[in-house]
Amino acid sequence: MACERIDHEFGFELRVCRWAEREWPPDGDAAAVISRQLGTRSRRWDTIVLEVDPEGLDRRSRFGHERLDSDLLFVVRNAPTEWVYYREALPDPGYPWRYVRESIHEADRRAILDVRKRANRIEIRRRFAYPEWCSRVIAIENKPDLDAGAARALSDQLQRDVALALADEVWVATRATGERIEPALLEDLPVEAGILVFSGGEASVRWHPRRLAVEDPGTRIVERPSEGEFDRSGARFEYASPEWKARKRLEIAERAYERGWRSYIDTMRPDCRHFEGRIDGEALVPHCGAKCREQTAAECSGSCPDFSPEPPAWRTRGWPVEGGPGRGVRRVLERRRKRARSRATGATRGSRR
Ligand code: SF4
Repeated sequence: MACERIDHEFGFELRVCRWAEREWPPDGDAAAVISRQLGTRSRRWDTIVLEVDPEGLDRRSRFGHERLDSDLLFVVRNAPTEWVYYREALPDPGYPWRYVRESIHEADRRAILDVRKRANRIEIRRRFAYPEWCSRVIAIENKPDLDAGAARALSDQLQRDVALALADEVWVATRATGERIEPALLEDLPVEAGILVFSGGEASVRWHPRRLAVEDPGTRIVERPSEGEFDRSGARFEYASPEWKARKRLEIAERAYERGWRSYIDTMRPDCRHFEGRIDGEALVPHCGAKCREQTAAECSGSCPDFSPEPPAWRTRGWPVEGGPGRGVRRVLERRRKRARSRATGATRGSRR
């Protein structure tokens, strides 16, 4: 039986990530780190592209591949170059010092900060200067089938993204329809959002985005009236300071750096006998032999009714090297994740393939 190919949003998203890894930016050349499903508490972007300074990224790698959360960033970015009692070295954190001490011990454990005790006092010293490594944050929303209903929902989200201006650019990625004028261009999307149209693993720019004012205060749209005839309520807004935005951008960049975009495998079930990885264009996408199609990340979980553990013989006989096909896919993705990181530190367009 021939399996059907379903381009649901998840599979489309993986293909967009792979394309961005090879080709970003569409009209230029820059080193880029790609991730997915990151953002703020109230807003998650599908694909995130970080344009990075390769030399800065190289210096960032001294801090290890794990992300630095906001508390660790506070400590390592403010650490002095000489030994100083930590309370004199760091600015007032605005929260209890005991949390700062926990972060200092964590930084010590990860060998990214020098820490010693003198006269019962904790002293700290910078080990490495934390570099400016991420120059731009790009958000891409993936909608393979952008019909009028999907465009309406997306338009609301994009308006919020534009008002907040947390990302430097926002884009919509959609699948080519073959029509003379792509329907995405006719939908009521904010003019600030760029439009990318995908066909056969390649993308073309149909609308260029406007650069958003990330250094300025942003507007968070908390509530807006429905379009109902009788709704007389007003919209509610909050102010987002440039400092908050800068902090959030760096936190998102740190998470993106740690995760990359191939970490989806961590929440799926490559230990299921039906799990396969298939190459489509240049993207390795999961495929389910039981469903005879590409499965979504949400479907491929322990609660999947078709889940069946891979036979022990696949592991003991070292198939194909060690473990079944799912484990092979996990190893390939992990190798690619490492390669993508090191390529970005010295990237040229040619070396990204
Ligand atoms: S049967 Fe379920 S758990 Fe197994 S690969 Fe398919 S979707 Fe994933």
